[in-house]
Amino acid sequence: MNRLAVIGQPIAHSRSPAMHTAAFEALGIADDWSYGAIEASPEEFARRTRELAAEGYVGANVTVPHKRAALEIADRASDVAREIGAANTLSFDSGEIAAENTDGTGLLAALPSAPAGMRALVLGAGGAARAAVWALRREGAAVEVWNRTPMRAHELAKSLGGEATEAVSTPNYDLIVNATSVGMHETTPSGGVSGLKPLPVDADGLHDRQVVVDLVYGSDETALVRAARERGAAVIDGLEVLVHQGAESLRIWTGLTPPLEAMRRAVRQDT
Ligand code: NAP
Repeated sequence: MNRLAVIGQPIAHSRSPAMHTAAFEALGIADDWSYGAIEASPEEFARRTRELAAEGYVGANVTVPHKRAALEIADRASDVAREIGAANTLSFDSGEIAAENTDGTGLLAALPSAPAGMRALVLGAGGAARAAVWALRREGAAVEVWNRTPMRAHELAKSLGGEATEAVSTPNYDLIVNATSVGMHETTPSGGVSGLKPLPVDADGLHDRQVVVDLVYGSDETALVRAARERGAAVIDGLEVLVHQGAESLRIWTGLTPPLEAMRRAVRQDT
């Protein structure tokens, strides 16, 4: 059996096991491949991951709060993971740990068109924002970064390029990516546009020539997704990005072409 898992804390609500299991079934390899969920605290993460490698696991996805630690414990890391400064995909080979980051490539794959030449705004300065800025800059977008704590936006722009901004003019961007955790705890649609308050986005400035990506996903659509949809923007939600980053991981582990439709159906089953 080729075993995989996602490691994080908390992990119980992760959709990755359902998504990858559906992919194995669609590919006809479910008898040989399995994907579980493993809860590990920051103190347990390194030990638990090395145990998985020693137990013969093929690899693992790594999620909050361990993506930086995943890069640190790796014996080898791709240039992408090193530049972003975090890993979400580990492969175990003869006890060695190789690190990759598919958050950036997953975001690019989820976009309706290539971002070359676009004026992009990335909200946030954590791991997801770093992956977004890295990916959009690599593809030739002009990237501005806004963050609640401005110093972190400046640090991000200094290390990955782009420009930190504190003056956001919503209509001016071709592409807006929310990589903050704002919206994570919305449980009802009644939040309306007020759910946008912690962000510098003006809902009435959103328009139908924009692409709006919200990396956050939950049981309801976020206030940003709702506002963008209502104003005719092309909207990519966090589940679509989740599917694409998972697809990139699946390709690394199995070498097979990911069955995107089956993976989409699986992550949206409970929504
Ligand atoms: P992180 O490293 O903890 O960063 C969190 C970011 O959110 C920081 O920039 C933080 O700003 C900002 N933030 C938190 N609370 C805020 C508030 N009330 N108002 C304004 N800004 C606030 O987290 P991460 O790993 O980058 O993940 C960010 C989000 O992306 C999470 O919801 C995660 O689930 C999601 N994500 C989704 C995918 C996907 O495939 N769909 C992949 C990766 C991540 P400060 O610097 O000021 O604290």
